[in-house]
Formats: sequence, structure tokens, C-alpha cells
Amino acid sequence: MAIESDVVVVGGGLAGATAALSAARGGAHVHLISANESTLRQASGLIDALGYPVADADRGAEGGGAGADAAAGPLADPFAGVDDLPADHPYRLVGADALRKGLGLFDDAVGDLYRGGHTDRNALVATTSGRAKPTARYPRSMAPGLVSDERSTLLVGFEAATDFDAPLAAERLSAAGVPFDVDGVTVAFPGEYRADAAVTRLAHALERDEDAGGDRTTRQRLADRVRPHLDDDERVGFPAILGDSHVEEVRADLSERLGVEVFEVPTGPPSLPGIRLSDRLFEALDDAGVSMTTGTPVVDFETEEDGAGDDRIDRVFIDRNGARIPYAAEQFVLATGGLVGKGLGSDRERATEAVFGCHVPQPDDRMEWSEGGAFADHAFARFGVRIDGRGRPLDADRAPEFGNLTAAGGVVGGADVAREKSASGVSLATGLVAGRTAAEEV
Ligand SMILES: Cc1cc2nc3c(=O)[nH]c(=O)nc-3n(C[C@H](O)[C@H](O)[C@H](O)COP(=O)(O)OP(=O)(O)OC[C@H]3O[C@@H](n4cnc5c(N)ncnc54)[C@H](O)[C@@H]3O)c2cc1C
Repeated sequence: MAIESDVVVVGGGLAGATAALSAARGGAHVHLISANESTLRQASGLIDALGYPVADADRGAEGGGAGADAAAGPLADPFAGVDDLPADHPYRLVGADALRKGLGLFDDAVGDLYRGGHTDRNALVATTSGRAKPTARYPRSMAPGLVSDERSTLLVGFEAATDFDAPLAAERLSAAGVPFDVDGVTVAFPGEYRADAAVTRLAHALERDEDAGGDRTTRQRLADRVRPHLDDDERVGFPAILGDSHVEEVRADLSERLGVEVFEVPTGPPSLPGIRLSDRLFEALDDAGVSMTTGTPVVDFETEEDGAGDDRIDRVFIDRNGARIPYAAEQFVLATGGLVGKGLGSDRERATEAVFGCHVPQPDDRMEWSEGGAFADHAFARFGVRIDGRGRPLDADRAPEFGNLTAAGGVVGGADVAREKSASGVSLATGLVAGRTAAEEV
């Protein structure tokens, strides 16, 4: 007997979560299946919509051509950049309104964990590499650190956590011309964690304010170590490890001890802001009545023919300890990510969509997948299934692949999300539309 629901969403990253929430809002009974608990736990926690303008060169639907123009500087308003995107970019297909509504759905789901929803404009957030990154939504814990804020700043790194070199980041930000004085210092993390590079343990020690020896707690000792470096600094930025889930409590405590406002700087994986975001979104899914199966990939599917002779997906199968377990639904959403999330596979010949075998446009000659240079305009960066305005993946003749499938997020091609800084926005816009279409068809 198959497990039955109205809509099955395959993939539990940002796109899958958004599609599931969108379909549930539309009144559907939704089941989400994901191979991993969530890739969000690795992500920075920043929600980029469109950071850099794109020069639309002449390029065909099969790849090649346009790229984000970093030299032109960051976009102040991501919505203002949408019309200049290539015609096959997901934003052009689902519309700027889908991006606005997707961001709105995100704001509702995460509540006071995030800031940025008061304006259409991008914020600039300082990163651990000393860059100012344009982003549409950012965790509340990062809000006092915005680059537009002119307060003098001290960045603090830890000896063992070598991916944040605070003095170097400060130097780079100064060289980039930020409108405030910024210095960086490296201190030892208090207590038994001095040589520990596991950020989740450091976050835990701060959350619990563990004993750090000599009748001092971790937070007390950390403040003692930072205080001598405060000159006239008006705010202090730490790597984003200020607690597991009670970041506001840790921030408030450290701010009081230091007498200046404390903020977090986004870090690489594993990412505490990513973990907090994942937890909040999965709570929202629970609240919306979405049921979930995690830790098991979809490995197969079966189709049936509808009355008009088109294929519809009848059920997908997960593999649990050798047993094939079927999940049947009226509608399915593909949200398995791109080459990184394993939604797309590739061998020496072809890039393929891994679950339903949907068409992935690509140059015939593999030599044309990439250009010289790591930051060049690579065709493979835009690989993925192509969708119509309702989020339905299209076959080589631009007809819907299946009568009841929509797609969202990194598995959808046409955007160079790393160069444009648009990964989360594409997931939110396409996730909203994919879930909405699925619910409408139930
Ligand atoms: C390290 C890292 C840093 C990032 N930083 C940023 C950032 O700064 N700003 C920003 O905007 N975005 C960032 N992102 C991107 C963002 O978090 C999302 O990855 C992106 O929006 C794409 O989301 P997605 O849901 O389509 O894909 P993914 O996040 O890749 O999720 C795909 C999901 O599908 C599941 N899956 C795959 N195959 C199957 C299968 N067969 N069956 C069931 N489930 C399957 C995977 O386990 C995974 O949970 C970052 C991502 C990563 C990984």
C-alpha cells in the first residue's frame, strides 16, 4: 500500500521547504521526502535575491554567453535587475512578483529570526573574507553589523577557528572603502576550547555559558579577553557562533559586558545561522501540517497515462534498508538541488536530472561546458531543467515533461546563482510557484 498525499515534494532544501509551505497554504496535504535532513545546515544563512547585474549577451537556450557583472558593483535593488536578466532566467519565467511573494512567504515562516523585509533594497553584509555582500534577508544577529552603518567596528576571531582571520578581514574592508573605522583581533576561545576548531562546540559553550575556570564563565572570560582591544569601537563582530539557538540571549549578554553592540559575521559550513534557519523552517513545515520523511532518497518512480495520452507520475519510491516504499500523490514537486545537492548528475558525456530524467539543455560538445578560469562564465553553472511560467519542467520540444510535475530551486537551470548571488531568491520564487501550481491542480 502506498503512502498517499495530495502533493509529494522531493527535496528538503530551501526550495523544497518553500514549495511545501506554498502548497500547504494552497490547501493541499503535503508530504516532503528528503535524502538529507537539510542542506540549509551548511548554508551561510544569508538569503540572496540578486546581488550583481547581469549583462545579457546573445546566447541560445542551450547555454553559453551572459554572466554577472561584478565590475559594475552590487545591485541596490534586486527587483530592478530582473528585466535585464536573460529571457530563460527563472526570474524572467516565473516573474518578479513570484520573487516578492517568495520572500514574503519566507518572512512569515521565519518571523523575528530575520531582518530585511522592511525594504526591497539589498543590504550589504560584511563576510569573513572581508567583502561586503549584497543580500535581501539576513539573520537579526547580523543586523548591527551592516556595512551601511558608520559605527567604528572591532572584528574578533578565534585562534583555532582559522577560516575567520579578523585582522585580514578588517584590512580588506578598510581597503574596500567602508564608511567606518574597522580593526581586527584574534583571541583564544575561553576554557577548554582554546584549540578546538569545531564551531558547534564553541557555540554550545557560549549558549550554556559553561564554566571556563577560575570562577568565570565562558562569556565572562570572552568579554575579559576582548575588552582590552576596544578603543573607541562602537560595535564588535564575532564569527556566527554566538549560541546554538539562543543567539539573542548570548548577544545581549556579551553586549552588556562589553558596553557596545555585538553582532555575528556569516561563516562557512557548518553554519550556525544555517542550522537555526533550518530548524525554524522545519518548525514552520510542522505548523503547516506538512509530513516528512528524511534520510532516504527517492530512488525510482512509476508513471501512468492520463486520458489525453500524456504521462503522469503515479508514485515515487524510497529505499529503506533494501525495501522499496511507495509514496503516491496527485502532484509532485522536484526540488533536489543542482550539481552540489545531487539533483543533477553528470558523467563524461551528459548532465542529467537524477530522479525523473527530465531534459537538461546543454552544449553537445563537453568542451563547451566551461571556459578558462575559475570565475569565468561557465555554461555548466546554468545547467538544470527548464520550466514554464507555472514551474513545469519542459522536454526538448518545450512541452511539459509530465502532466503533474513542477520543479524549483537549484535543479532549475538558467541562472548562474554563484556569480549573480541569487541562489536563495531563485529557490524562493520557483518554490512558491511550484507549490502553488501543485496545490491548484489537486
Ligand atoms: C555551503 C552553502 C552555502 C550557501 N550560501 C548561500 C548564501 O550565502 N546565500 C544564498 O542565497 N544561498 C546560499 N546557499 C544556497 C542555498 O542554501 C540553497 O542551496 C539553494 O537555494 C538551492 O536550494 P535547493 O533547495 O534547490 O537545493 P539544495 O539546498 O541542494 O537541497 C536539495 C535537497 O534535496 C535533497 N535530495 C537530493 N536528491 C534527492 C533524492 N533523490 N531524494 C530525496 N531528496 C533528495 C538533498 O538531500 C537536499 O536536502 C548556500 C548553499 C550551500 C550548500
